[in-house]
Amino acid sequence: MKTAVLSDVHANLEALDAVLDEADCDAVIVLGDIIGYNADPQAVIDRLTGMQARCIAGNHDLALTGRFNVDWFNDVAADAIRWTAGQVDDSAFETLGRLEPVERTGSQVLVHGSVRDPAAEYLRNAAAAAVSFSAADFSVAFFGHTHIPAAYAREDERVRELFLSPEGETLELRADVRYLLNPGSVGQPRDGDPRASYLILDGDRVQWRRVPYDVAETQRKIRATDLPPVLADRLSVGR
Ligand code: ZN
Repeated sequence: MKTAVLSDVHANLEALDAVLDEADCDAVIVLGDIIGYNADPQAVIDRLTGMQARCIAGNHDLALTGRFNVDWFNDVAADAIRWTAGQVDDSAFETLGRLEPVERTGSQVLVHGSVRDPAAEYLRNAAAAAVSFSAADFSVAFFGHTHIPAAYAREDERVRELFLSPEGETLELRADVRYLLNPGSVGQPRDGDPRASYLILDGDRVQWRRVPYDVAETQRKIRATDLPPVLADRLSVGR
């Protein structure tokens, strides 16, 4: 069973479709932030719903459905939430309104931000990972929110970051090690690489992947709306 683990799609239909085309998988997990920033919120929700992707909510999805205070967002992100609210239908609100920022299946945990604070915390270093390893009992937790691919392992009480640039890396999960794994962002990567980022979970093997997509088309769509133009500009530089 091959599962594609995606995060932070952010209404970027071109990036999502490029990932789904390449992934060739049996199941799709989305770690939240389905909407926000880019111009295709309804189409992205429909695509994920149609394929029965297993989704949790990110802070943008929670904000759209009245469960996260938009005052915590910067102006650009808040503008995008307000714009998105006028673009999606009632069933999209219902779909996102049912999602929580954390979900657990056996010893696997899905969170948007961190295990300690699934809606809001940015897990960016080994110290923050250590806190999340202690916050719950799990063997593997998948997280997003930072828009940067990453992997942390806890072995014999020690927590370390596994690699700084995980593209193409394959990780064999060990039963005696615990993991926190971030696929990076599909719809708005922030590690300086504009290509969509995701990972494939295949049994005990995890592989990080990057896929080019039609960035110019996504930018054209953003510039044709009232969304802040900076949201188009940043996609070409992956920031
Ligand atoms: Zn996000």
